[in-house]
Amino acid sequence: MAILPIYKYPHTILRQRAKKIHNIDKSIQKLVDDMMDTLQNSGGVGLAANQIGVLKRLIVIQLPEDEEPTAYINPEIIHREGKREVQEGCLSIPGYYGTITRSMWIKAKGMDRKSRIMKITAEGLLSQIIEHEIDHINGILYIDHLNSHEDLIKESSEIPASTS
Ligand SMILES: [Zn+2]
Repeated sequence: MAILPIYKYPHTILRQRAKKIHNIDKSIQKLVDDMMDTLQNSGGVGLAANQIGVLKRLIVIQLPEDEEPTAYINPEIIHREGKREVQEGCLSIPGYYGTITRSMWIKAKGMDRKSRIMKITAEGLLSQIIEHEIDHINGILYIDHLNSHEDLIKESSEIPASTS
């Protein structure tokens, strides 16, 4: 178990594309455990491997109602439908949140830590987090989706809907 430091914007690793995982070995299992610990300690809802300085296609997500995080290995979005405005934050860009456009719902696939294929249809917060985390492993940040600087807001007392 380890809580890892979260890399902050504008660190260049957040702008790099992470590499596919070919073998879910002991080192990947440890990485999954460490990312889950780091996410739970952060108070966020999702974490991508780039954010802890590792260029591998691995994300972990924990919805507020979940007892523990779920790991998605080599996740990809295979279908997106609709558009909606959401408020979003990022553990790598602390102190800010922004209004951006995300999909109404998505279909995604990937593998779990036991190498089983996972296919999911997600809407609402889960859909938003999956899009945010898969952006991370492609080197994209939510601020890239802002329509204008005025859509980026410094956090005061208001809590962002999603920080990942
Ligand atoms: Zn993020």
